[in-house]
Amino acid sequence: MSAKYVFVTGGVVSSLGKGLAAASIGCLLESRGLRVNLMKFDPYLNVDPGTMSPFQHGEVFVTDDGAETDLDLGHYERFTHAPLSRDNNYTTGRIYEQIILKERRGDYLGKTVQVIPHVTNEIKNAMRKVAGNGADVTIVEIGGTVGDIESLPFLEAIRQMRQELGRENTVFVHLTLVPWIAAAQELKTKPTQHSVKELLSIGIQADILLCRSDRALSRDIKQKIAAFCNVEELAVVGAKTVPFIYEVPIGFAEEGVDSLILKYLHKETPEANIAPWRELVERCYHPKDEVSIAIVGKYVEYEDSYKSLKEALTHGAISQNLKLKIHWIEAEGLESSGPDDRSYESQLESFDGILVPGGFGKRGIEGMLNAIRYAREKNVPYFGICLGMQTACIEFARNVCGLKDANSSEFDPATEHRIIYKLRELLGVEEMGGTMRLGAWACQLQPDSLAARAYGVTEISERHRHRYEFNREYEALLTGAGLRISGATPDQTYVEIVEIPGHPYFLGCQFHPEFKSKPLEPHPLFREFIVASYKNRLTHSQIESVAGQVVQ
Ligand code: GLN
Repeated sequence: MSAKYVFVTGGVVSSLGKGLAAASIGCLLESRGLRVNLMKFDPYLNVDPGTMSPFQHGEVFVTDDGAETDLDLGHYERFTHAPLSRDNNYTTGRIYEQIILKERRGDYLGKTVQVIPHVTNEIKNAMRKVAGNGADVTIVEIGGTVGDIESLPFLEAIRQMRQELGRENTVFVHLTLVPWIAAAQELKTKPTQHSVKELLSIGIQADILLCRSDRALSRDIKQKIAAFCNVEELAVVGAKTVPFIYEVPIGFAEEGVDSLILKYLHKETPEANIAPWRELVERCYHPKDEVSIAIVGKYVEYEDSYKSLKEALTHGAISQNLKLKIHWIEAEGLESSGPDDRSYESQLESFDGILVPGGFGKRGIEGMLNAIRYAREKNVPYFGICLGMQTACIEFARNVCGLKDANSSEFDPATEHRIIYKLRELLGVEEMGGTMRLGAWACQLQPDSLAARAYGVTEISERHRHRYEFNREYEALLTGAGLRISGATPDQTYVEIVEIPGHPYFLGCQFHPEFKSKPLEPHPLFREFIVASYKNRLTHSQIESVAGQVVQ
């Protein structure tokens, strides 16, 4: 039986949520018992997003095999169980890199190397490789907006796929915008018509239109779009903006998107079971209380840089029936003017938990150290991720062990006390992305630690993306003063988790647990951090209400 594909393109404007739409389609097909896989093509020339600024690109999502990928792959993993790897994300740059390599090797036997067929063949091969991995349906998202010069080779490749595989094996889903024009008090279909026409001009007739809009589409509007865009009326799907992204699959199911796709693909399956998603959304609408978390970081003004982190915290909060309030705090704003300046404390008082996320470079470090000191001393739950683990160790070395110049060699290469340093360089390890430790690494947990209690097991695997490591030469000093190393790689080379016993929740991990949290399977470290933060909130509100009674 030949592989089946759903191709997702976008029109009118960017940022309509194509990744989320692709992930939601995957979710629905999976909930019908199908094995799905998802992949994304990004039309830019960078080979991968690994070296791009978080402001440019948002988060770099890391897969188990250590690929640095587009953040849409995070949506795919959160909404499905598709096995993602570096095969699931290609940029134009990576496609060209492969072609140029082959050309230099002489693989083309003297032929002229051209966009068609060589680039398009490379793109089609990448799709076939993912589809060949045992998926019943492969969902392929084409980045960018139809009409861009950059995405043309990808669109040409999917056009050819339809020619080769036929209608019963390929579906074209096109995401467009149906804006509400206040002056006319009307939803307007013209941008959708133009976008579908643009697609048709390169030989692709959309089969299903997902129409993003801030309100429901009337029957009239759907009929009009169907008529002008040459699709079935049923294939004009209202994709109304919803308060919670977990509602997107439910909305699609109500509009019959999955049934239609399967009808076009000539595939019979049981009905979708989306009860767990409905229950999840129910919880989002009816939280019992809220919990407020301060994220002290560097790229806080651009929330997409911490996409998975925000999601993982949300999953933890939903699991406890809580509404999550995130407060993004620019770390530089917490710096002190001198050793006795504790004015930053007032900025941190109102939060139930504090988190320092991953990051690179020196800016803001001193502010992060202050936030960590505050959390440690005042028994406020603290969760440090990657850079947040490294800074937690530096803070402990400075303020508990008295090593005033303790630092990471990333921020002060000349420091005498390199608590955090580049171990991989010393070990002579060279790999993709330079000396970065990337992707999944096994970790052994100490029985009875906070980490082991949260996970419920002592062997775990988590994903990494960093260069620097904890320096074990300082282990005896730090653990002697009360820091516990509760997780390390099985060969004991790398320290993976530190915690402070007796503190309500003080945990730093060298890996990025946020990449593995799913809405229906919240990550244990995030869940327990939220539990501790909410406890802290309740204790505080009790103290405040007792204090209030005393004053009265
Ligand atoms: N900058 C630190 C390192 O490279 C931390 C990286 C991160 O937080 N992802 O090790």
